[in-house]
Amino acid sequence: MKPNPMALSFDIEDWFTVRNMREVINESEWDNQEYRIEIGVNYILEQLNLRNIKATFFILGWVAQRSPELVAKIHQHGHEIASHGHSHKPIDLMTPKEFREDLQKSITLLEEITGEKIKGFRAPSFSLTKKTAWAIEIMKELGLEYDSSIFVTSHPDYGVIDFPEEIVNMNGLIEVPMIKGKLLSRKIPVNGGGYFRLFPYAITKNALLNNNAQSPMVLYFHPWEFDKDQPRAPMSPLKRFRHYVGLSDNRLKFERLLDDFDFCTIRELIENSPVKSLERNPLLPQLGPEPLTHLS
Ligand SMILES: [Zn+2]
Repeated sequence: MKPNPMALSFDIEDWFTVRNMREVINESEWDNQEYRIEIGVNYILEQLNLRNIKATFFILGWVAQRSPELVAKIHQHGHEIASHGHSHKPIDLMTPKEFREDLQKSITLLEEITGEKIKGFRAPSFSLTKKTAWAIEIMKELGLEYDSSIFVTSHPDYGVIDFPEEIVNMNGLIEVPMIKGKLLSRKIPVNGGGYFRLFPYAITKNALLNNNAQSPMVLYFHPWEFDKDQPRAPMSPLKRFRHYVGLSDNRLKFERLLDDFDFCTIRELIENSPVKSLERNPLLPQLGPEPLTHLS
């Protein structure tokens, strides 16, 4: 049986804007860095074009401001344009007011370039968690229809381990969570990022196939992951490992993946999957049982 199509997504940011770089390259220095985003984006567009695959591009407002023609090009190729915020600050490092301004700025820039309403959002570093659940109301107020920022995992920086592994309606905002692959009884986050680069492709493929039958899968990549010659920044050994592991053969793995599966945009995944309405938002604290005194 042919596996279900998986949603393919890209977070469009350059190598120096990622969370692991934050302590060595300040946002005020971004303009002075070697800007290489087109290397990765052009490679991605070329590979998708060859196979007639359409994907969702979560684009940083800062990138849209600097390269409006690049956003227009992605849009002209028929891909879905969505927001990755403006400054790549994780939600937990912003106040609600700052988050609203940051998100609105990115939406306005992207809508001006594409002439279309922006409907989807992915928070930098998957930072929609129980701590930042307040952000959902702001997303709705700004006209977003879906979010794909919750990673069903426990990670020191992000994740909601008890979030359902399905597409859900959280009181008016649809959440398309990031779900891990499965190998034997272990769940491994091979659906993108460092783990995709770290694991041999055969393991990744199996893990994706195993979970694909049960849960709607979303894959995520970044343009800098396809640019092996990007500058090396002085980081701690762990962060250096996370950022640079597997860069040299990542293009090869990615092309095998594109050949082996069918893909769609996140909006298409929502349209073709059951969307469950939740009685209780799993991001909000659970109310305890009624006090005993209320019982007769
Ligand atoms: Zn990002």
